Amino acid sequence: MIYLDNNATTKVDDRVLEEMLPFLKDEYANPSSMYDFAKKPAAAIKEARAKVRDFLGAANEKEIFFTSCGSESANTAIKGVLNCNKDKRHIITTKVEHPAVLNTYKEFEKNGYEVDYIGVNSQGELDIEEFKSKLRKDTALVSVMYANNETGVIYPVEEIAEYIKSKSPEARFFVDAVQAAGKIPINVKDTKIDLLGISGHKFHAPKGVGVLYAKSDVRFTPLINGGHQERGLRAGTENVPYIVGIGKAAELAQEALKYELSEVKRLRDKLEDGIIKNVFNARLNTGVKNRVPNTTNIGFEYVEGELILLHLSDIGVCASSGSACTSGSLEPSHVLRAMGIPFTALHGSIRLSLSRFTKESEIDYVIEKLPAIMDKLTSISPFQDELEKLRNQR
Ligand code: PLP
Repeated sequence: MIYLDNNATTKVDDRVLEEMLPFLKDEYANPSSMYDFAKKPAAAIKEARAKVRDFLGAANEKEIFFTSCGSESANTAIKGVLNCNKDKRHIITTKVEHPAVLNTYKEFEKNGYEVDYIGVNSQGELDIEEFKSKLRKDTALVSVMYANNETGVIYPVEEIAEYIKSKSPEARFFVDAVQAAGKIPINVKDTKIDLLGISGHKFHAPKGVGVLYAKSDVRFTPLINGGHQERGLRAGTENVPYIVGIGKAAELAQEALKYELSEVKRLRDKLEDGIIKNVFNARLNTGVKNRVPNTTNIGFEYVEGELILLHLSDIGVCASSGSACTSGSLEPSHVLRAMGIPFTALHGSIRLSLSRFTKESEIDYVIEKLPAIMDKLTSISPFQDELEKLRNQR
């Protein structure tokens, strides 16, 4: 099996699992309890919080809140901030956010909020001028993802944060960094980002644990009310093993960043170049430099993406046609549509995403096998004249 769907989820690192195991077995005390038996889990949470603080470059561990996933982090940030600022009812976001963010704003729109969705160009880059023109005095919240889950394109969130604070200092800025964490350095302390969300299962921790960073002066209401956990801002007995897991994964991801930015990128580039050179109907959906190092998105003209995925699966290769939440539906990706990807390639676009566990031999295998798959699929396409033209152009 060759796993090239690391933007959907990642394998749990063995070293992460090893750190978690004691807290799934013998060290099961509730960390809030008074007796000595609870001291180890309480200390383990403290240690994990410090590791995540370092990973995100936060000034203080009080700015780190453990959640259950990236979606919860986004929902807490958005709903929590808007709840604290009810007289401002304007929001700015982008057309290419993850459904965890987009669908949350759709709910606010139904309740009378005005939401501006900023577009992207054909390479998936954000229209910064459009964003600047939309910022208003009554803007309550802006949210822009750090890196796009389908294309890997990185957005200039630090520059956006500076602009917001200079023009509309009361507006809050949330960054969905789920696809940036572990792939590029994040250092919130030196930025004007107010809130930022990450998810453990995207960087080799298990599914079911996330983090919300909120700068110390940012007020938000909890999404889950109850006990005093997470300083009263996220109730529920702490998921100690998973919190330990995300802490360890953050530490390991920090150590592996150099490898991600050099070796994972080299393999991604090799895969991308190999496919574009060897497959006549392949087009790179975005080739911008400013992308996370593990992601490529390639359109195969005049063929169905689902068929490509099934054929790849038959030879043991896991890939995806978009975000895991929308693959499974036949709707073309909202991200590629926002980029204006031609109709001929829209339905045949696939995302390949690597990790630090991807081997060069796996990349070579995909480059070698894909041309035969595409020969087969193009031979049954109803667009033979168009394909012949493409073949001649190459
Ligand atoms: N934001 C982005 C950019 C994502 O890619 C994802 C998951 O794919 C999420 C948010 C949601 O994260 P989770 O699955 O942890 O809820």
